[in-house]
Amino acid sequence: MKISMVSEHASPLATLGGVDAGGQNVHVAALSSALAARGHAVTVYTRRDDPGLDERMPLCPGVEVVHVTAGPAAVLSKDDLLPHMPEFADRLAAHWRAETPELVHSHFWMSGIAALDAARRPDGVQVPVAHTFHALGVVKKRHQGDDDTSPPEREALEPDVGRRADTVVATCSDEAFELIRLRIPSSRISVVPCGVDTDLFRPEGPSARRARRHRIMTVGRLVPRKGVGTVITALARLARDDVELVVVGGSRDEERVHEDRDVQRLAALARAEGVEHLVRFRGQVARSELPTLLRSADLVVCAPWYEPFGIVPLEAMATGVPVVATAVGGLIDSVVHGATGLHVPRRDADAIARAVATLLDDPAGRAELGRAGADRVRSRYTWDRVAADTERAYRRMLSRRRLEPRSAHGAVTR
Ligand code: UDP
Repeated sequence: MKISMVSEHASPLATLGGVDAGGQNVHVAALSSALAARGHAVTVYTRRDDPGLDERMPLCPGVEVVHVTAGPAAVLSKDDLLPHMPEFADRLAAHWRAETPELVHSHFWMSGIAALDAARRPDGVQVPVAHTFHALGVVKKRHQGDDDTSPPEREALEPDVGRRADTVVATCSDEAFELIRLRIPSSRISVVPCGVDTDLFRPEGPSARRARRHRIMTVGRLVPRKGVGTVITALARLARDDVELVVVGGSRDEERVHEDRDVQRLAALARAEGVEHLVRFRGQVARSELPTLLRSADLVVCAPWYEPFGIVPLEAMATGVPVVATAVGGLIDSVVHGATGLHVPRRDADAIARAVATLLDDPAGRAELGRAGADRVRSRYTWDRVAADTERAYRRMLSRRRLEPRSAHGAVTR
């Protein structure tokens, strides 16, 4: 199939050469590459954020990236991109008139706006649109309240993207329930998770040295909603001296980690809780070095207040490390309570402390959970499997569309 991906702010090229890239960049790059490996021709459209970029650049055999000029050719915050989506859509429509794809897959709500506009013009080509949200504004607002910096238009425009898309690819069942609450028909929702690089994250390989008998670890951004503070409090509740907590992530490397404001906030909490001597802030670690560090942990704790998908628990499981995870968002599907880790309620330090103590005192149980986690990732979360499941969602969308043709304005005609 000829597939157009639309990823307005997240270029898959940012994942090459060790450039720091977020989850959507990795997702679009890995999914496009895996679809190309299955024989599809993929073009990824992303906004030009640098005047020096060629219009077309190859990502890998079968995947080409097109830089679309929409707004200034400079890095802009995601929150400032909405006004440039009409221009982005005009350029997409012109591209698709010249080179019509069989389907479009847009990523993040603003790409959805541009893709649906370009693919449903009365005077343009009519192309079916699959959409992945990656995160939902309604969930962000629920948990972050006034700290949410998304443009106010998101509240109305985002659900509209879901209602107008031919299919919505949700990354977990919790997201599917949120979408149904936004009045997106369940018959048009497919659940396909994100994938993991199982060549990089695997149980076999070197393991970093550790300072104490046990090591627990958190990995990820240090923003409050990721819940690292709750893990520090849990460490204090554990009240034992043979455990260290390694906190991976932040804006700096280990040398300058204490300049990071989130690290300063968390270090102050560790001092107040009396566990300063047991917490080590590692700062940002390159993905290529993460498996070695993960293997040195007895368990990884993921304690977010909410989580659209959450790739870290899967990376830990892929490496053979059990996970203590809050039962929220994607973590409800990925971590199987009692089989690959333990679920705990959100923002509950006592529950985390109990779960950690249970696992630390049971080395055989930990090894069993670690093995089961690695098996689960290898069987369900490789990018090849994710691409095959995505392809199935595309085919369902295309056959439904043949049965229910749309008018040029997007309404289903019966
Ligand atoms: N990560 C990393 N180095 C770090 C911290 C995080 O490579 O120092 C990676 C981590 O391995 C994961 C990603 O960043 O692949 C975070 O993804 P997740 O879905 O857990 O959270 P997000 O940041 O997308 O909310």
